[in-house]
Amino acid sequence: MARFAGARGWVPATSGNFSVRMDEKRAALTATGANKAALDEAGVIEAEIAGAKHPRASAEAPLHLRRYAAAPEIGAISHMHSMAATVLSRRHAQAGFLRLEGWELLKAFSGVTTHETALDIPIVPNDQDTERLASLVEEKLAAAAPVHGYLIAGHGLYVWGRTAADTIRHMEAFDFLLTAQLHEEGAR
Ligand SMILES: [Zn+2]
Repeated sequence: MARFAGARGWVPATSGNFSVRMDEKRAALTATGANKAALDEAGVIEAEIAGAKHPRASAEAPLHLRRYAAAPEIGAISHMHSMAATVLSRRHAQAGFLRLEGWELLKAFSGVTTHETALDIPIVPNDQDTERLASLVEEKLAAAAPVHGYLIAGHGLYVWGRTAADTIRHMEAFDFLLTAQLHEEGAR
């Protein structure tokens, strides 16, 4: 997932982070500062989903771990700073969501079977206190229709799936759909 995102320019300047669930208690997470485009074993840590903070955990680790705790079906999570996600997250921040509707590629998301679908992707305000941000995200997702990701305003995108392969498909679908949306809206 990290190399896939790195090769596409979605995690510039060592940004972004990635994780996979190991079991119900642990997740493998990219360490702080790791170069995601050339990720190797040294750039990965083993973190407790509900335990003490790992010393090499990135600041955004709570945004991964709280998702795993809240949704047992999630097996992998990606966080990226792709251009379309970052621009649209800020443009639509006030509405609190971005609607993706009528695109054929919506069918790339697990559970979606027709382009005649409207997905409201939640947007939360950015916050450097990531524990507080994770609480807000979980509150918002609990109240929203099921989705495979959300946006942080002026920051980027979180995406997940049952497996790493599902998550990669969702990453690619989100980037395509958000880029299409950005083109359609035009520059403002
Ligand atoms: Zn980030």
